[in-house]
Amino acid sequence: MLTPPAIYADPAFDMAVEQFRLIADYLNIDHNDRDRLLLPKRAITVALPVHRDDGSTTVFTGYRVQHHLTMGPTKGGTRFAPSVNMGEIAALSIWMSWKCALAGLPYGGAKGGITLNPRELSIRELEAVSRRYMQEMIPFVGPHTDIMGPDMGTNEQIMAWFMDTYSVHMGHTVSEIVTGKPVFLGGSAGRRESTGRGVAFLVERALDFLKIKPEGCTAIVQGFGNVGSVAAEALYYKSGVKIIGLSDAYAAFYDPKGIDLDQVQVHLRNHPDLANFTGASRIDPEEMLVQPCDILIPAAVDRVINGSNAGRLQCRILAEAANGPTTPEADVILDQRYNEILLIPDILCNAGGVIVSYFEWVQDLQNFFWNETEIADRLFRIMDGAFTAVVKRAKTEKIPYRRAALAIAVERVLKAKQTRGLFP
Ligand code: NAD
Repeated sequence: MLTPPAIYADPAFDMAVEQFRLIADYLNIDHNDRDRLLLPKRAITVALPVHRDDGSTTVFTGYRVQHHLTMGPTKGGTRFAPSVNMGEIAALSIWMSWKCALAGLPYGGAKGGITLNPRELSIRELEAVSRRYMQEMIPFVGPHTDIMGPDMGTNEQIMAWFMDTYSVHMGHTVSEIVTGKPVFLGGSAGRRESTGRGVAFLVERALDFLKIKPEGCTAIVQGFGNVGSVAAEALYYKSGVKIIGLSDAYAAFYDPKGIDLDQVQVHLRNHPDLANFTGASRIDPEEMLVQPCDILIPAAVDRVINGSNAGRLQCRILAEAANGPTTPEADVILDQRYNEILLIPDILCNAGGVIVSYFEWVQDLQNFFWNETEIADRLFRIMDGAFTAVVKRAKTEKIPYRRAALAIAVERVLKAKQTRGLFP
């Protein structure tokens, strides 16, 4: 394989490359096909000058990476975070491709983002930078080219600004350019909850597979944003799972007797984060991950399960709600602990978001909307099919679940590329 271009230098990108190399070796993929499968088709960087409230001007940097356009338009979220760089966004776009292929969606992967901390901007500044980002991306995106969505640090309001900016440019409303919009602006019922709900659905599916009853099980959730909170609440309120560990970027809590999520919700109605939550004892965030529990859900950032803590995990199920939470070094350890820890890999575990985003796009294109029950039924059917396929492949070939999931996904993209052929 070629050495990837230096613009992608980033540990998350190295991780995506290493995962791909392992799966390409496992599948014996011809060396002529490897770079074509791995390297992103388009990588765009934009400068985003914004008037600040104090009268100064700041130029933010925005990115969008479209991994492959072989199976339809690209699809992917938009991350607003200080960590955002081209390599991280490229890695996320690659994982998105495998996720879409595993779920059988007619998309390649994409991802975008702006390097900023949204909490350091006023609402007016946030709107200005969001609109400027979409404005700069107009030549490269479109409902049949690349469809944006939310990710860490972005929400329905930002998706509405993206949609409005694109629509004003086109002269008519183009709701299908973006997913994760408010429902009254062409969003889909259940989109906001979809990723977390999908995570909870697969956790229950895995518990059922292991013949463990959810009632009384314990869970630790890292990251209490969109995905982590919905997954935790679904498990807590619907399935009777005890949440014994909980964290966000500001604080981590642990209580083996269980944390009262009603209290957490009340706290978050009045505070922006968990920093001053008093309903449970504080714990070192790293230590929280290695406490005994039935279900561990990393739902924040990448590379938190690594070579130094993978051997110390004390969970029965590791449900990867975040993208890329486990490093290849940790995978080597988890592969050896295959019979102790059932790993639900990220490209399967958090696929609920892109699946309902796909529903949103389809509903917008046909201007015909489905109700929440229809959405949930279709979502769970696709997730159940993907879970069953991964379990079957893992069993047949005696391989870990991540390898099985990646094998199915990468093979599908490879087949599509080979069948379409190479344009001269
Ligand atoms: P979010 O911005 O809504 O929430 C992120 C949460 O993680 C916040 O509570 C934040 O405080 C916390 N956090 C950040 N850094 C942390 C750290 N080092 N330790 C502990 N907590 C930390 O983001 P989200 O949309 O919930 O996304 C979370 C993860 O799920 C990301 O990896 C994202 O790529 C992935 N994901 C999101 C979606 C989606 O639909 N939103 C879909 C698929 C995957």
